[in-house]
Amino acid sequence: MASTLKTIALFGGTFNPVHFGHLRMALELKQVLGFDQMRLLPSHQPAHRAEPGVSAQARRDMLALALEHCTELQLDERELQRNGPTYTVDTLEELRAELGYQVSISFCMGLDSLLGLPAWHRWEQLLTLAHLVVVTRPGWQIPRDGEVAELLLRHRGELADLQREAAGRILLREQTLLPISATGIRSLIKSGRSPQFLLPERVLDYIQTHQLYKSEQ
Ligand code: ATP
Repeated sequence: MASTLKTIALFGGTFNPVHFGHLRMALELKQVLGFDQMRLLPSHQPAHRAEPGVSAQARRDMLALALEHCTELQLDERELQRNGPTYTVDTLEELRAELGYQVSISFCMGLDSLLGLPAWHRWEQLLTLAHLVVVTRPGWQIPRDGEVAELLLRHRGELADLQREAAGRILLREQTLLPISATGIRSLIKSGRSPQFLLPERVLDYIQTHQLYKSEQ
């Protein structure tokens, strides 16, 4: 009988700020796909996307507050601790060096990110390090030809593969998204309206205490 590996999933993002869309998606993926661990992985934000006055530390603190009473989701701060831009492939190599190959690692992303994958740094190596769990969003079509279509043809797998193999499969997973975005929350605050009920109360308190997202971009 094939052995079952420990399964670790990563959910990356800028989380500027973290909201219920992120948290529900991460929790549902963990529970529906049965991962042993689900780690939220805040990324360095490229300078051109940075919000004035919102530091990496603030994004990290808001995530920590959101997860304070949640035993199912963990915070993985490794990308914030590295200086300069972070590439997913470097993060996965670092994790592999720590965890070895007796662990299954799944990197979760939206289909829109999968379509842009060929532009990622050393993208061909990603699947040697991890599985990709791709959440299909309404309105997006799976490509029929091109590099991503070929990648899907070679690597598409099913849930059982994620428990049997350490890396190398692409799992497509249809999931309903809550209609919440960090961009929407930032623009509500800028225009003086409240984002209450879109994100955890303690995150909102942090935003108010530190006067975040009020300035013009
Ligand atoms: P922004 O509006 O600033 O682009 P965002 O809300 O889309 O931010 P990110 O930090 O860019 O959030 O995204 C982190 C991850 O969460 C990405 O994989 C993204 O696809 C996913 N995501 C974003 N919004 C939602 C949502 N409402 N439901 C589920 N997943 C989401």
